[in-house]
Amino acid sequence: MADQLKGDERKQSGFLFLGNQLWLDFLNTKIKRGGEWVDLLSDFANLIRWLEEARVLDGLHAQEALCRWPDPSERETIVGRARSFREALRPAVESVTQAEAVSGEVVEAINDVLRHHCRRLELAFDGDKLVSRYVGEVTEPLHLLAPMAESAAQALSGDDTTLTRKCENPACVLHFHDTTKNHTRRWCSMETCGNRMKAAAHYRRVRAEGNEQGEMMSQAGAEIRLNAKLV
Ligand SMILES: [Zn+2]
Repeated sequence: MADQLKGDERKQSGFLFLGNQLWLDFLNTKIKRGGEWVDLLSDFANLIRWLEEARVLDGLHAQEALCRWPDPSERETIVGRARSFREALRPAVESVTQAEAVSGEVVEAINDVLRHHCRRLELAFDGDKLVSRYVGEVTEPLHLLAPMAESAAQALSGDDTTLTRKCENPACVLHFHDTTKNHTRRWCSMETCGNRMKAAAHYRRVRAEGNEQGEMMSQAGAEIRLNAKLV
């Protein structure tokens, strides 16, 4: 698709697309940086931008949405609804990653949005590759959220929810669906959390070895002192 953003452009925006499922990428729009929560869906323009980068909207529909809702207070209401839907989904990912049942409230929240789903998937060529994209008019705010509700409904009713994981860095709040061949993915990203956790483990190992050596040295020192006294 000519109006779709390419991988590099997606990276520059600061949004993270590492979840492998739309609803997880949506959850990953609220992150922790330096211990503080940061909401990447900071305003309506950012919400539309995310939807475009997530390929929920193409460039044309993104522009249309910006024109359809120009009123700031209406925009704030729509972003608020998006954020509250995202937080309604959060207990679902927590349940799934802890192998617990998803609550009825989550099911209701998803169905509330799905009732407004009028857009449909279409298969299209992107060069020689096939891609799926949503087509159809966006005339109601909930039309914007419906694809994430659909993604959550499909994921939660699927039989591979055990592959939905939280990044193993305790300070990280990102989730992903593990699509690696051996299902060994542990981090949201190797470049950030993976390297950080490996470096921390290495530091702990070196320090533990250092302590061990230190103890051996001081034991040896004590023996030498003892021997010196005996002589
Ligand atoms: Zn992480």
